[in-house]
Amino acid sequence: MNVGVSQAIGRTPLIELSALSAHIGRRVLGKAEFLNPGGSVKDRAAKWIVDAAEASGALAAGGTIVEGTAGSTGISLALLANERGYRSVIFVPDDQSPEKIALLRTFGADVRVVPALPFTNAQNYYHLARGFAEQTPGAMWADQFENTANRQAHIEGTGPEIWRQTAGDVDAFVAAAGTGGTLAGTAIALKERNPEVLAVLCDPMGSALFAYVNDGELRAQGESELEGIGIKRVTANFAGAPVDRAIRVEDRDAIAMTHWLLAHEGLFVGGSSGLNVAGAARIAMSLPEGSTVVTVLCDGGQRYSSRLFDTAWLQEHGLLPAANGLEFLTQRT
Ligand code: PMP
Repeated sequence: MNVGVSQAIGRTPLIELSALSAHIGRRVLGKAEFLNPGGSVKDRAAKWIVDAAEASGALAAGGTIVEGTAGSTGISLALLANERGYRSVIFVPDDQSPEKIALLRTFGADVRVVPALPFTNAQNYYHLARGFAEQTPGAMWADQFENTANRQAHIEGTGPEIWRQTAGDVDAFVAAAGTGGTLAGTAIALKERNPEVLAVLCDPMGSALFAYVNDGELRAQGESELEGIGIKRVTANFAGAPVDRAIRVEDRDAIAMTHWLLAHEGLFVGGSSGLNVAGAARIAMSLPEGSTVVTVLCDGGQRYSSRLFDTAWLQEHGLLPAANGLEFLTQRT
């Protein structure tokens, strides 16, 4: 279905980060996913998942959309449920930002805030969502991690849009992975058009994909406060993704970049966007001058006002940016 708010999903601007690009002598472009109606890149996955479920008959009039989510996907699904007349039941771990949970409630979702537990625990939000959907007549479990309609959204949407917006002048695509749908789908679409496009994962600490991409072994180290990214398993959406290499970006650098983007580019985005831009800048600096690197501005900063933009929270977590410049890009790698 493509009427109503669904029509406003995608076709986002590709913003040149001009201050950053001037500083490093390479063009860094950010896909402005925070401008989607649900405020994040996850609108795309949600739309493709709901469309596929309607087409297969898994979701029909009077049905219920069920999902376990760090928040963004639930927010997108709740809006689509409202547009199309479904109920939404959203399981969220209790370590996610209060702003996202409040938005879910405002949007009318039936929100189940559950203890943040490892995936191996049967009470993890993912398993609870699946169990609830199985027991509820007319319910459709969106399953953004294993449902490859997620990655298809980026094969058909994000990737071709970036190709058109750069007129094919793109040397690298860099992104973090939550489900992996954005990175895998966009990389597939870009490499279909030019196999030379470099696809790079930028992984937060605590995620196992950095080790997986570079040496084939799922191994995690450290931890991260960033929401919606990093994972310790290979999802169906990430499996087989044509990713050339992975780099790691620490929280303090991701957050320093998030603040820098606000102060110097006028872009108010969340921590995963800061991490993506920090990763994109480092990859750009490893490429010849004049290269073009594209990344994703996943969501807006309002969702993290009480954390990433709160001095007391930042101080408490040892993450208050030390300087106003871009020294952090080269001081640590
Ligand atoms: N940033 C944020 C804020 C997210 O919520 C997510 C998805 N959980 C991502 C980035 C990563 O997107 P994907 O699931 O496509 O890997």
